[in-house]
Amino acid sequence: MSAPQWLEAWSAPDGAARARALFVERFGEEPDGTWSAPGRVNLIGEHTDYNGGLCLPVALPHRTYVALRRREDGSVRLTSAQDAGRLRQVALADVAPGTVEGWPSYVAGVAWALREDGHAVGGFDVAVDSCVPFGAGLSSSAALESAVAVALDATSGLGLAGPGGDPDDAGRARLAAACVRAENEIAGAPTGGMDQSASLRAREGHALLLDCRDGSVRQVPFDLSADGLALLVVDTRAEHALVDGQYAARRAACEAAAARLGVPTLREIAPSGLEAALATLDDGSDEGAVQVRRVRHVVGEIARVEEFVALLDAGRLREVGPLMDASHTSLRDDYEVSCRELDVAVEAARAAGALGARMTGGGFGGSAIALVEHDRVDDVAAAVAGAFAAQDLRAPAFAVVLPGAAAR
Ligand code: ADP
Ligand code: MG
Repeated sequence: MSAPQWLEAWSAPDGAARARALFVERFGEEPDGTWSAPGRVNLIGEHTDYNGGLCLPVALPHRTYVALRRREDGSVRLTSAQDAGRLRQVALADVAPGTVEGWPSYVAGVAWALREDGHAVGGFDVAVDSCVPFGAGLSSSAALESAVAVALDATSGLGLAGPGGDPDDAGRARLAAACVRAENEIAGAPTGGMDQSASLRAREGHALLLDCRDGSVRQVPFDLSADGLALLVVDTRAEHALVDGQYAARRAACEAAAARLGVPTLREIAPSGLEAALATLDDGSDEGAVQVRRVRHVVGEIARVEEFVALLDAGRLREVGPLMDASHTSLRDDYEVSCRELDVAVEAARAAGALGARMTGGGFGGSAIALVEHDRVDDVAAAVAGAFAAQDLRAPAFAVVLPGAAAR
């Protein structure tokens, strides 16, 4: 059996040096500075963000690094080590929904959204390098947007980023909103807002309780090492087609159910009102039956976030495992967004002694997380890798996560 592959996080000086070196190589001069922003993993609260619900992401130690220099001519030149260092160019004045292709849309979109929000942002050169895996459900897209957002904030003197990770910083919420607009409107990817808030507003050593009804946040201490625990991330490296269509279909079902129930979002359905709501939705049609399952997941999942946070607040981190397990079951059976690789990862981790395990992120591939005893990390990773090999699945990759710092 082959040894588990680990996704190492770069040190901050190493990441900054990589971005700077690429900048100098491609643009022939020094950048104004370097900035970075983390990917994220969501502890619990999946597919709740676009329902005005609660989620609980932590920032990863894995970050995207950018070196950026202002330009005065309104053009944006971009290069990324993850794009083989090719040089791309966009005129800022031309950026609008549907005009920018590929990864430059995430970067140009942030500048566009900040301008739309009334900020004086001009052209720039930027070089990108990252140790956040792409498309693994760990939010490399928000890491890229957020790193660019804090870089533009600094080089254009917007004063929105403030000190890193300040939970009450309304400026960071505005930067996050600009990143969401960039991703939705310029990159054309529907996202609910959790990823950008995690990357810009999380605090080291904490999980970020994000209330997507009003965008408010609370920093919840999440000290794994004090309990002798570790958070193991399993990147399944599964690739499934039609993911965007499935995401859109889930959103549409939730919106349709909320409309039928006469509420703005499913957040307004309290657990005590769930049975009555399900009875209303269950009209004998196939659509009604689907809405019943989707709503049961969303309402139950929001309640699980509250229980999870209550346990953390009470210093009972070791007891959150069953909530993670219940979240996975609900995502698999009611929300129907799991897949074989995620189920194999979760089941193998539990069988090897994980306290709890669940898929994380949108689903249909991406990553799973497991809460494990610190001294069992290697054994659990080996067991998951072994289960994948036994089922002829592509070898997964692993990371051990301590909650990292926000974009800076
Ligand atoms: P996830 O955010 O889960 O990693 P997404 O599909 O939302 O997956 O975002 C991945 C996309 O973000 C990539 O296909 C690419 O367009 C862009 N991206 C992210 N990081 C980088 C990077 N370092 N360089 C270039 N593009 C990037
Ligand atoms: Mg993304």
